[in-house]
Amino acid sequence: MSYYTGRHALVTGGGSGIGAAIAKILKDKGSIVTILGRNAEKLAEKASELDVSFAVADVTDREQVDRVFSVAVGERGPIDILINNAGLAEAMPFSRMEDEMWDRLLAVNLTGVYNCTKSVITGMLQQSMGRIVNIASVAGLNGYAYVSAYCAAKHGVVGLTRSLALEFAGSGITVNAVCPGYTNTAMAHQAVDKIIEATGRSREQAMTELLETSSQDRLIEPEEVADTVIWLCRQESMNGQAIAIAGGEAV
Ligand code: NAP
Repeated sequence: MSYYTGRHALVTGGGSGIGAAIAKILKDKGSIVTILGRNAEKLAEKASELDVSFAVADVTDREQVDRVFSVAVGERGPIDILINNAGLAEAMPFSRMEDEMWDRLLAVNLTGVYNCTKSVITGMLQQSMGRIVNIASVAGLNGYAYVSAYCAAKHGVVGLTRSLALEFAGSGITVNAVCPGYTNTAMAHQAVDKIIEATGRSREQAMTELLETSSQDRLIEPEEVADTVIWLCRQESMNGQAIAIAGGEAV
């Protein structure tokens, strides 16, 4: 069995953006792919386009996660590759941020990674094989103003990645993170919309502002992130890494 052929890969947030690009490349390489998210209609459409399976769950809900992961394992075999990609970004000055926003962003971006990882880890240990790749962000490596909850959650993901990599080193399991800069998905375009709404700037000016910290003055493409993810899954020696895919933003 190759690193991908016949391997069951579960991609959270695989119905759109970066997750969909990762699901596509894994499918193209011969993996049995399950994409997971909350929006059944969106997932069904993407699953049919990619010819993969889908599961509906909110990653913040441990019971739901355990239930649908167990169904996916029953139908398509043990999960060999887990891509913790589901995430949510929102900006707000810290002084005006409600507790609810803090809780929500931590729940999706950090506890969601914990929940899904807990759900697969026993199976991976039993089969002495597993690849876990967490989609963090450059906001997991650097601080940025007005996105404190997102940054704290993504720093948490990087910390969890490094700890688990050491805890499971030698067990056939690797745990890594990738840290994209602004990537060409709905999430980045929503951030541009917010800048336009808050400042009245043109779309072009808002995009320039968004890319102010990016050295290459461009959005990263989801396929660039996906390529790095599959390379990480193949290289057993890569463990506990948090790789920036950001054109030089985090060096
Ligand atoms: P996206 O297209 O908005 O994808 C986010 C995905 O997460 C959606 O498919 C969504 O599916 C899923 N999701 C959100 N909350 C969920 C929940 N509670 N339970 C299950 N699924 C949930 O954005 P993207 O850019 O591809 O983001 C993917 C990851 O990359 C995120 O972790 C994000 O933080 C990270 N990232 C993005 C950028 C960027 O600029 N785009 C940069 C750095 C890092 P449903 O709506 O079906 O639930």
